[in-house]
Amino acid sequence: MRFGCRHGRFVLVGHAGVLDLADASGGALPSDPLEALARLGEARSFAATADWTDAGPYDPAELDAPVPRPRQVFAVALNYRPHAAEAGFSPPAQPLVFTKFPSCITGPDVDVTLPPGNVDWEIEVVAVVGAGGFRLDRDGAWAALAGLTLGQDLSERQVQLAGTPPQFSLGKSFPGFGPTGPVVVTPDELADPDDIGFESLVDGEPLQRGRTSEMIFPVPDLVEYISSVCPLLPGDLIFTGTPAGVGNRMQPPRFLAPGQTLVSRMEHVGEIRQRFH
Ligand code: ZN
Repeated sequence: MRFGCRHGRFVLVGHAGVLDLADASGGALPSDPLEALARLGEARSFAATADWTDAGPYDPAELDAPVPRPRQVFAVALNYRPHAAEAGFSPPAQPLVFTKFPSCITGPDVDVTLPPGNVDWEIEVVAVVGAGGFRLDRDGAWAALAGLTLGQDLSERQVQLAGTPPQFSLGKSFPGFGPTGPVVVTPDELADPDDIGFESLVDGEPLQRGRTSEMIFPVPDLVEYISSVCPLLPGDLIFTGTPAGVGNRMQPPRFLAPGQTLVSRMEHVGEIRQRFH
């Protein structure tokens, strides 16, 4: 199943268009994304036999974030060896977890106002929590997730790296710094949910590319580790880390500038696009 959010409502997304879950189920299922995610099993049963006759065409640019108001947003630093190396660190012994405050979350196709400083790109696969739970083990991790979507962990490096030791979360939480979408793909749609390719480009120039199979801590390990501390709630997001190729480790460093467009693509999920002003 592929799903997203349009006009604040949970929608199934298929080749025929989008199907509003609440309307198509005659009100039996909720329109609110967090409520629908809490009843994901019912939504999936409904989707398996849904009548797409009334599905409407849609413009991908009008989709909201798949989860517009997640309660918790986790993000993971240095989860790819080449990125840890370019950042000057040894691979971590356990996941390095910070937050992107949820007010930074936006949809897949948005304009972003650049704050003062050095704004950098970090393409990341984002795990979306379905049923969730506390103290999950890795074998049960995929069953606790709704699926995967795509995001950018946009980062203003001056705020991110200020202080000793630096505290990452604020520098990664300016408005518009958490674009996500366009859809969530459930794990059953993926031949191997732990091996998905992705890439990003700025104004058509390739920036980053990778596969989730290259993660130091794959998604099930992240779920086990994070849920050992925080109960995972329906709709929570986990930004799973970025591969090599961020701008502040280039020689000379490069950052986003007004007028540029950042495009990110992920197998099975699609494309997100941010225009910077
Ligand atoms: Zn990141």
